[in-house]
Amino acid sequence: MKIAFIGLGNMGGGMAANLAKAGNAVRAFDLSEAALETARSNGCETFSTAKEAVEGVEAVVSMLPNGGIVKSVYTDDVIGHAPDGAVLLDCSTIDVATAKDVSAAAEAAGYAMVDAPVSGGIAAANGGTLTFMVGGTEEAFGRAEPILQAMGKAVIHAGDAGAGQTAKICNNMLLAISMIGTAEAMTMAQKLGLDPQKFYEISSQSSGYCWSLNAYTPMPGVGVESPADKGYEGGFASALMLKDLKLAMEAAETAGAKVELGEHAKRLYEVFAVESGGKDFSGIIETL
Ligand code: NAD
Repeated sequence: MKIAFIGLGNMGGGMAANLAKAGNAVRAFDLSEAALETARSNGCETFSTAKEAVEGVEAVVSMLPNGGIVKSVYTDDVIGHAPDGAVLLDCSTIDVATAKDVSAAAEAAGYAMVDAPVSGGIAAANGGTLTFMVGGTEEAFGRAEPILQAMGKAVIHAGDAGAGQTAKICNNMLLAISMIGTAEAMTMAQKLGLDPQKFYEISSQSSGYCWSLNAYTPMPGVGVESPADKGYEGGFASALMLKDLKLAMEAAETAGAKVELGEHAKRLYEVFAVESGGKDFSGIIETL
């Protein structure tokens, strides 16, 4: 299949490489020459504009930093330039309103489009083990699914346009809250004189069981191996968690949803993202 890939950064670089490895003809574009160089070494053909990259393709995949960029790339370079009937897949994490607007503009111009944000970081993007949560019509999902399968381990149809972004930000709001809760409980247990490993053994098999504790234990040397054991390097940067919390709070306001813990988590990550200098989001335990 002929697929254009726009946005070859930390995530998109590995995703485009996996599409090429699966036998697709990948036509790649990024503003960064270094990213294009890497894409070439991974079997992609590269172009100096997005408009050229989308010529003659059956699908366009994008992995871009934010909603403003997604909107301008689709409005200026994809819609009206990719062949009629191509399927468009935006995998970036962006605000729900922009995802819906871009999808509506694409559909009005005769394209099928999905928002397909991901769970999983750079390692999952490189390894082809991302989870995709997908918003769009049944028809658009059916066409997008095999393309996403080549880059991930799970592809889930969440609902209509925007539903993928909704699932992503609600999930990450829950993750932020549960990570702070886990960090508080572990620190408090330790301050009260309980061995943190004992606390982990008990709570991870009791009602405190959760992904933040069981699969991403935020205290070094306790529980499973995680970024905590590498000085909070790698993993999911606190700045990206803050980005998702901001998107979640915007969406909550639009929907009239009460998210007091989400608001509080956002305030804590606003401080931590600046102070931590790019550390993994679980490093917030060090501030307690
Ligand atoms: P990144 O900054 O590494 O990559 C973004 C790429 O887009 C860069 O290479 C940049 O040059 C390119 N770009 C920017 N504007 C462009 C334009 N107009 N045309 C073409 N290319 C353009 O970011 P990333 O970490 O790869 O994240 C991409 C998206 O994935 C974001 O929406 C992010 O929230 C989401 N995400 C990231 C992670 C992660 O762990 N990094 C995890 C899940 C989701």
